[in-house]
Amino acid sequence: MSDKQKTLKQDISISGIGLHTGCKVNMTIKPAPENHWFVFKRVDLPEQPTIDANVDNVTTTKRGTTLEQNGAEINTTEHVLAALVGMGVDNALIEIDGPEIPILDGSARQYVNAIEAVGIKEQEADRNYLVIKENLTFEDPEKHVEMLIVPQDEFRLTVMVDYKSPLLGTQHASMYHIGEFQKEISSCRTFVFLREVEALFKAGLIKGGDVDNAIVMVDEEVSPERLQELQTLFNKPEIKVEGIGYLNNLELRFRNEPARHKLLDIVGDLALVGQPIKGHVLAGRPGHAANVAFAKVIKKHFKKDKRAVPTFDLDAEPVYDINDIMNLLPPPSFFIGR
Ligand SMILES: [Zn+2]
Repeated sequence: MSDKQKTLKQDISISGIGLHTGCKVNMTIKPAPENHWFVFKRVDLPEQPTIDANVDNVTTTKRGTTLEQNGAEINTTEHVLAALVGMGVDNALIEIDGPEIPILDGSARQYVNAIEAVGIKEQEADRNYLVIKENLTFEDPEKHVEMLIVPQDEFRLTVMVDYKSPLLGTQHASMYHIGEFQKEISSCRTFVFLREVEALFKAGLIKGGDVDNAIVMVDEEVSPERLQELQTLFNKPEIKVEGIGYLNNLELRFRNEPARHKLLDIVGDLALVGQPIKGHVLAGRPGHAANVAFAKVIKKHFKKDKRAVPTFDLDAEPVYDINDIMNLLPPPSFFIGR
């Protein structure tokens, strides 16, 4: 893969429902010029405000990553951003006529398939990588979350999850380089425990929720009465679960699909650093809050780095004009009498 920046060859259109808002939205992902990175545009609002995919714009990480800028909000940004980064796209404009990115089947598969269908094209400018040269860490001891990035010539991730659940237990997933994203990671769906999804539904917090856009895990016995209740709640005539397992006995796409989905979310959330990364991320029990905090650590480090190591090209032509400097000085009268 060359190290030139890339964008889409054509527009992509995708429609679907936002998981939390329940809004039906239409989205068009468009090619964008060099050094543009990813920008969302709320075409449903007056003046069509834009929201940069920048970690400084994150307002909440409850059940997904939400960005806000120019008075506009965009929810659940992680899966579409993961798909773009995972397919090697550097620049895209994501136009959307609602407040939330569609959840689709809970993975990034449909986005990846659409990107593959239109193809990507190389641009003139080189990629500007954030090259990790020293270890950077983020820890949240209370939640037992640890994140670390170490030097590595590829964007590589190793993720460990550990839930106090007999169904999920400890899982591990890895991606050795971004070229593995499409086949190994993109189809992995988000997951939720049945008791969580029930509570969220009852609280009206997952209006667009459906048992088909997440892996619903059942790690406790469900009585026939509760199953009846769930059918009404989810508006599904047939909800099946036999003992401990998955709702509707769905087939996992990979044995460790939940851990792979956590990896997908990290790729999407670290896109908010604003540049492609060369480094190896090791994450223990990550979530959106930790991913975003870690993205801030990385971004801050590089900002500091730039200030600390100024570079001067002594052979370069001076970029200033002597007349401009004279104009900056106070007028001659200022000096009189001093
Ligand atoms: Zn996710």
